[in-house]
Amino acid sequence: MSDAPLDLVIVGAGFSGLAMAIRADRAGFPRFVVIEKAERIGGTWRDNTYPGAASDVPAHLYSLSFAPRSDWSRLFPRQGELQAYLEALVAEHGLANRLRLATTVRGATYDEAACLWRVETDRGVVAARVLVGAVGALHAPARPALPGLDAFAGPCFHTAEWDHGCDLRGKRVGVIGTGASAVQIVPEIAGRTAHLTLFQRSPAWILPRHDRPYGAGAKTLLKVGPLRRLYRASLFWRRELTALLGFTRVSRLTAGAESLARAHLKRAITDPDLRRRLTPSYRLGCKRVLLSDDFYPALTRPDVSLVTQAIRAVTPHGIVTADGTAHPLDVLILATGFAPAGSYDRLALTGRGGRTLGQAWREGADAFQGIALAGFPNFFLLLGPNTGLGHNSVLAMVEAQVAHVLGALRWLAKNPGRAVEVRADAQSAFRDAIDARLSDSIWARGGCGSWYLDGEGRNRTLWPGTATAYRRGAGRLRRRDYALVGPG
Ligand code: NAP
Repeated sequence: MSDAPLDLVIVGAGFSGLAMAIRADRAGFPRFVVIEKAERIGGTWRDNTYPGAASDVPAHLYSLSFAPRSDWSRLFPRQGELQAYLEALVAEHGLANRLRLATTVRGATYDEAACLWRVETDRGVVAARVLVGAVGALHAPARPALPGLDAFAGPCFHTAEWDHGCDLRGKRVGVIGTGASAVQIVPEIAGRTAHLTLFQRSPAWILPRHDRPYGAGAKTLLKVGPLRRLYRASLFWRRELTALLGFTRVSRLTAGAESLARAHLKRAITDPDLRRRLTPSYRLGCKRVLLSDDFYPALTRPDVSLVTQAIRAVTPHGIVTADGTAHPLDVLILATGFAPAGSYDRLALTGRGGRTLGQAWREGADAFQGIALAGFPNFFLLLGPNTGLGHNSVLAMVEAQVAHVLGALRWLAKNPGRAVEVRADAQSAFRDAIDARLSDSIWARGGCGSWYLDGEGRNRTLWPGTATAYRRGAGRLRRRDYALVGPG
């Protein structure tokens, strides 16, 4: 890799990294590279190839507003269709020559004298004025700390690392976890296995999904730009309305939505004991609300069992639960989610004065508008802390963040040799405001623990308001929040 400084280095070629690349190119900043450790682009949609993997945000909303499609096959796109969309974006926008695939970032250090980021990869060093971390919020698989897990004798894999060589037919398969991944997998593999045992620690609130294909007529209508935009806006605002009506707090809407979810459960499950075990004891919205029409029916199959006893240990040939029951298994699937902070660790950043990101985040991930950090000039995060959404498309957040970074690029273009750094007081005021809102939120008050919260119970994952409010605040870089730093 050459040492000639670029305008921009983007780390990660998933949805957010590609959005950044396309927008930078169009805005007149074509001198960038996108570094990606894998051999293919796609991020989450490249990695999560488990049976049934699909978005639970409609395709017409879960796609980039500046790169629309009229021919999405169905309401909720499957993994393959999303991966194909992202690959088509690379071709259509001529990004291939700026992708550095199969290249791992080992670390990045800010050179204060030169106002440059020096990004060290396993293929050499690349220098750039601006560094964008687009490494994904949910990327590092969380392996449960269960005694004996490493000694399990059969195939054992995480949902994000699905072993397609492992034939489940005729096998006794165990799935640990009942989150968004598990509820998509279980209906797909039930019936293929000799027996499927689902180990549930906490039940999820599940609402109807109502997925459907788009017919030829709908696809023709959606070719008309204004109609397509109207449709996208209606999908967006329907979701915004839930946040506006108070879905981020324990409210009357919570109780209404819980009734809908209970009715959904009742329709599918007639056995009162099974229904009881599938009914959450915390408030709806405290953990991510799931959408599924086929998960509950799958649990009524005679070859599927739900185990709600805690897991005591994994043995070479199965799982032993707290009541002493041994559940013999040939294959073990970990649908146990991701470590949200884990994504940033591997960037190994060193900012101004030799301070590392690990040191800056010793007490937890923190960034102004989830995008910028004091002490790390010209470094920006996409899908950073507190920019996750429970109710709407996270791409709405990504597009705001990309616009923010473009603001920085434009400012820097007028100030050669300098850098922009967020003011520490702007960052701490943002943190205080967000913590105040989160202290009263459904995620803090809803009676559950979740990966949204860190070890101290602080939510460092979600944005506590509407996507619109975030876009209004973060979608434009306000120069008063930043300082121009460095020589020049
Ligand atoms: P998740 O929502 O974090 O669920 C993990 C599951 O594993 C939970 O049921 C959890 O139980 C259980 N678990 C974790 N550690 C355990 C242990 N030691 N023993 C027993 N059970 C354990 O993970 P995910 O399903 O992979 O989803 C992660 C996120 O990815 C989602 O929230 C969503 O943002 C995204 N996602 C989206 C889609 C989609 O769009 N359709 C699909 C998949 C994933 P507890 O609840 O008790 O902690």
